[in-house]
Amino acid sequence: ARLANQIAAGEVVERPASVVKELVENSLDAGATRIDIEIEQGGAKCIRIKDNGSGVNKEQLTLALSRHATSKISHLDDLEAIVSLGFRGEALASVSSVARLTFTSKPADQDEAWQAIAEGRDMQVHIQPAAHPQGTTVEVLDLFFNTPARRRFLKTEKTEFQHIDELIKRIALSRFDIAISLKHNNKIVRQYRAAPTQQQQEKRIAAICSEQFIQNAVFFEHQDQALKISGWVSDRLSPRPLADVQYCYINGRMIRDKLVNHAIKQVFAYYLPQGTFPGYIIYIECDPKEVDVNVHPAKHEVRFHQARWVHDFISSTLNTTLNDSSL
Ligand code: ADP
Ligand code: MG
Repeated sequence: ARLANQIAAGEVVERPASVVKELVENSLDAGATRIDIEIEQGGAKCIRIKDNGSGVNKEQLTLALSRHATSKISHLDDLEAIVSLGFRGEALASVSSVARLTFTSKPADQDEAWQAIAEGRDMQVHIQPAAHPQGTTVEVLDLFFNTPARRRFLKTEKTEFQHIDELIKRIALSRFDIAISLKHNNKIVRQYRAAPTQQQQEKRIAAICSEQFIQNAVFFEHQDQALKISGWVSDRLSPRPLADVQYCYINGRMIRDKLVNHAIKQVFAYYLPQGTFPGYIIYIECDPKEVDVNVHPAKHEVRFHQARWVHDFISSTLNTTLNDSSL
């Protein structure tokens, strides 16, 4: 069982940041409103993520650590309309095959917390009582301790932490309703409070994307029957360094999509002078049935069923925004 999981881990667990991604997405799927992340030595030594989400009850703990055990998809039909971030049920099993993972959890309707540890070649799951408030803490120690080839591929502590920091920024931009903190080697690096109002959201954006971005940005929002697109766009982003304020989310999921990128580029090419770079944070919301996220395990890519329609909707919304704003 361990070997099969390690092979699967190759797809999902590339580096510490990919572990953080899977764990934070699980916290989001569990409805957490606060997520605290502690990292040691770039994540190679320790990744600890605590949430106040729904938790997992004692009976389901063992299952949660098993391969292809997901509580999020119960019918094949559900695959047609994925609303949760996770759905493959392989992240925890994969991570626990290449690290020492403990999963501690207390759901609201259970008096005690319980902790699960997967160990040994056959990944037997041991369960013991623990102390924990409602929610879940997942601790991942010594990543790749048993796959030395992969451990050697890890970059410096600083680089690995930068990947984690960038990931947390992307998540913080996708979920303004969630409070997130990030510590590295016991020092607080980021702290985002829940930001329900647009003003608070723009403060969070300023912290993440720079003051300059948000000061030049215009907010836009446009809704059709089945598609909603909103966000912030900004020009005047020369010099270069700010050009990396380019974030796009579909139904809360960060994506890099050729079609979407093409639509955005095309519009900006028309409005922006040569040598300037657009900055944008764009949120697309649509019926989950209209997009297929089950393309790649890392889930960066999506496939739209009505690609042309989405493309044109993005183009026309941005066109109107840039036209009106006299950016
Ligand atoms: P997936 O997210 O694809 O379902 P995972 O391996 O990431 O698969 O997680 C397995 C299961 O463990 C989830 O379906 C969920 O039921 C449970 N789980 C994992 N993390 C959490 C968490 N932070 N809070 C509540 N349940 C969790
Ligand atoms: Mg998951």
